[in-house]
Order: sequence, then C-alpha cells, then structure tokens
Amino acid sequence: MLKVKFVGASEGITGSCSWLWHTETNTQFLVDCGMHQGTHEEEWKNYQPFEFDPKQIQYVLLTHAHIDHCGLLPKLIKGGFKGWVYCTQATKEIAELMLMDAAKIGDLFQETDVRLIKWHVIDAGDFSWNKTLRLADGLSTTFKRSSHVLGACGISVTWSVNEDSKELKSIYFSGDIGCQLDDNAYLPLMKSDHQPYPKTNYIVMESTYGAVERDPGFKDANNRIDVLGKIICEAAYQKGGTVLIPAFSFHRTQEIIMDLLCWQWSRWPKSEYAGLMGGDKLKEDGTESYEKPLRILCDSPLGHRINEVYASQISKRLSNGKYQYLNKELAGRLSCSEGESSKLFSELVNTGCIYRKGHLIRCLTPENRKKTRYPESNSKYSVIIASSGMCDNGPVVEYIKKMRRDPKNTIVLTGYQSSGSLGRQLLEQSELEGVGSKQAQVINMSGYYSGHADQAKLLDYVFSLGSYSQESKPAHIFINHGIDDTKNALKLAIQERSGQKLHGDREVKSVEIAKKEWFDLNAGAYIDSQNEHSDQLMGRLASIEDKLSRLTDEISGLKLARY
Ligand SMILES: [Zn+2]
Repeated sequence: MLKVKFVGASEGITGSCSWLWHTETNTQFLVDCGMHQGTHEEEWKNYQPFEFDPKQIQYVLLTHAHIDHCGLLPKLIKGGFKGWVYCTQATKEIAELMLMDAAKIGDLFQETDVRLIKWHVIDAGDFSWNKTLRLADGLSTTFKRSSHVLGACGISVTWSVNEDSKELKSIYFSGDIGCQLDDNAYLPLMKSDHQPYPKTNYIVMESTYGAVERDPGFKDANNRIDVLGKIICEAAYQKGGTVLIPAFSFHRTQEIIMDLLCWQWSRWPKSEYAGLMGGDKLKEDGTESYEKPLRILCDSPLGHRINEVYASQISKRLSNGKYQYLNKELAGRLSCSEGESSKLFSELVNTGCIYRKGHLIRCLTPENRKKTRYPESNSKYSVIIASSGMCDNGPVVEYIKKMRRDPKNTIVLTGYQSSGSLGRQLLEQSELEGVGSKQAQVINMSGYYSGHADQAKLLDYVFSLGSYSQESKPAHIFINHGIDDTKNALKLAIQERSGQKLHGDREVKSVEIAKKEWFDLNAGAYIDSQNEHSDQLMGRLASIEDKLSRLTDEISGLKLARY
C-alpha cells in the first residue's frame, strides 16, 4: 500500500510537506520539507517536532528552492535524516544558497547542517523530462517542469498496486504551479508548465490564487515592460529622481533584470519617451552610444550568487536539443537571438555588467560591495534593484532610509508584502498620503510578477488534456497550499468545470481539501485512525510475544545446559 498524509501547507500557504509511506518495502519519504513563514504563530510551528521520525525518512523529493518548500531540510538533517534529496541541479544550487542565507539570519539550524544534505540531481548529463527514477521495488518517481521559478517541478510517484499484478497507480504533486501559458509565456524567463499525466489517479494541487483571475493587463508582457519603463522615465528623466526596486533575490531579481533589458533595448526606442535618451552618438572607439542612456545597479549579494546559477542553468539543453527552461518568447522581446538571450546571465556574471549602446546594468559582487560606500557612491544610477523584496533586510534598508523622504524618488514594489513588513508599511503609508505626498512615491507592481497560477490557469492545468483525454483515467484531486477561502473557491470551480464535461477535459472523480490524516492511495479512502491505532498495538503485542517466546526458549536451553 502507498499512503499519504498532508502534514504541511494543509492549513495555509507555507510549510509544504507531504509524508508518504510505501508499506510493502517500508519506504517512507517526503515531497518537500518547507518552512512555515508569516505570522509568529506560523513560525512557531518550525520549532515543533516533526510528525514523523526523520531517521525513518529515506528520500525527500523536492519541487523547488523556495524556503517554504525546502527550508526545514537542515532541521531534518539535525533530526537524523540520512537519506537523499532528489531535485533538479538548479533547485539544488539555489536551495543551498537560500538555506545558507537562512542559517545566517535564523536559529533553527546552522550552516554545517546545510552542508550535510545529500543531493541527488535528477537532470545531470543526458536528460529528458520523462526519466523514471527507482525509489524501491515497485515504487518510482518522475519529475515534470513547472514555470513557477528556475528549477521548479511537479513530481509524480508511481507504485505497483500489489506484488502479483502489473497494475500501477500514480499520484502527482503539483508543487507551486507557474502562471505561464502555452500560447502566452508572459513572464520573462520560464517555459510553460507540464501538466499532470493523463493517467494519474491522484493530483495534489496548490491553490494560492485559487479564488482570483489575473487582470488581463498583467498577462501582457509588453504592457508590463512599458508600465515599468514609463515609471522609470517619469521618475528618473522628468523628475530627476531615482527608482528603487526592492526585489526577492531568487527569480524576481532575474525577471526584473530581463524586463529592464527589454525596455532599454527594444521598447524604449519605440516609445513616446524615446527622445529622453538623446541622440545616438558614435564614440571615439567606434561604438555607438545614446547621449543619456539608462544606468541600472543591482545590489543584492544573494541575488548575485543566484545569477551565477541562472548563468549555467538557463542555457541548459535537454537531450533533444531544446532548452530545458528558457522561455523562447524572451528573445523576441529583447530583439535578439535565442542564443544571445540564453547567455545574458553569463555575461552579467563574467563581466559584472551588461552594456549596450551606453545602456548599462551592473551587478555588485559581494566583494565589490565591501569596497564601495553605498548608497552615496551609487547616485550615478537611475535605477537600483536591491534585496530584500519585503524591505526588512539587506541593502534595500539603507537605500530606503536615504531615498524615501525625497518626492522625486519612486519605490516600485514587485512582490508580496507580508503584514508587518517595511514594504507593507510603505504601501499603506503612501495610500494614506495620496497625491502630493512629500515622500517618495510608492508603486505596487507585484500583480504583474506573481509566479503563481490564477484560477483559470489552475483549472486548465487539471482539465485540459486535448487529444490525451482519450487515455486519461478519472482523477481524485486534493487541494492544499491555500487559505480556506481560496481552497473552497477552487474546489467549487473544479466541481463546476467537471460538471460541464467539456471535450478534451480530464474526468475528475472527486475533489477535496487535503487533510492531515493518513489516506490509503490503494483503496482511495482515509485510514480509520482507531483501526490503525489498534493495528499498531496488535503489531507491538505480536512482537512482544515473539520476543517472550524466544526468551523462554533461551531460558529453557540454559536450564537444560545446567542440569
Ligand atoms: Zn514557490
């Protein structure tokens, strides 16, 4: 039997962790082992013992490197976990950086615990997405691409229903589902997601934005780049101020860099603001440069390290020659070749900057940063991207101190701001003060950049199989990773769509909100905890009886020897 218990992210959107147990081979494993984040009450859960014994866990199958999915791996190590963590190369490298960073600022674990994690990279060498990896006899796993962030995957687990029959069943864990669409990969970097297998029996899906539809304007890449470009031109060129963009070090910083390149190279020259960069001059060395090019600084120590991973991974190709992750629409937006778009992070990492016709994006390395007096010495830049995304830590704190009291400046928020964060305070204060404020203007662009699928995408993710619907099996859906309202809204929406029985749709047998109880995936039913407890007691009794009988035999043997 394979059974599952949703021990994390069943009561919120953080702390993702599903516990699986293959009883025939006594293989226990997890899908994700994430940290609880947000309120103090949520964070307190990180200090509680795991529900399982870490020593008994043989594998962790990791969907991606966000801390709410991988953040408790070092705690698992501290608890005695000696097994392997399966994930992509990109996820391994980024998770290591994120966990080392978390070890420095938290007290849950140390850097030494992070170094002890044993990684099994699933996409080393000649790799294609349908590669099956054996976990135990009759138990295997397959990873499929997600567009959520670099390295992200959905994970399928397949098992034999019993030893004699050839019948296989499978359960698919979505991880975080990206928002890229097959015909409109509107965020900068990632290809669209793979969908769960048509033949899967179960789908476990996230529901972060299960209740909302994304604004159509947010799904338009050129619109997003133009909105950002307009903010920059008005703040930096017309008002003479600086634009500060607080950004998460992982993925958001890299997306913002690509959007700014698209603005510099492609959108700006065609926009109403084209005149602001002046004429195109021939320099003495024979190169061309605009009179007033846009100079951008990226000040994010962790972001710089993560850029190094993007440099090697975004250009990676599969065994069939296709890019593993790179969004082919990016090249068109940059007006360059796909090959050039795949090498931009390498250029940034190797030379410290990307320079074209006077336009510059420079990234401070941690070493450079120590030598530079900031932010004073960075006044020659019109745009500064700085970590952290919620403005509570990192270089952005100093920039905000210096910049927020000058109404010429603009702060552009690009990610979710949790309650109590400085970013949320800035947003609320600017809403209160409104137009005419004597502070820097605060603009919220987070809706454009969210990496989670909205309700329409989530429904298509489950249902739209096209020609594969012929071979599909009716699926049982578990919804997790959402607040109660979004989970319920998504459940209703799935039931409605299921009732429509559209041509090409997957048949959904049932849909429910994931619970923290053992579910028997062979039988398709929750395991009665009373029965399970009495089974465990009977098992322990049998083992005690067994030991007693062996002891009795031993004592009899001793007595015989004595007489
Ligand atoms: Zn995520």
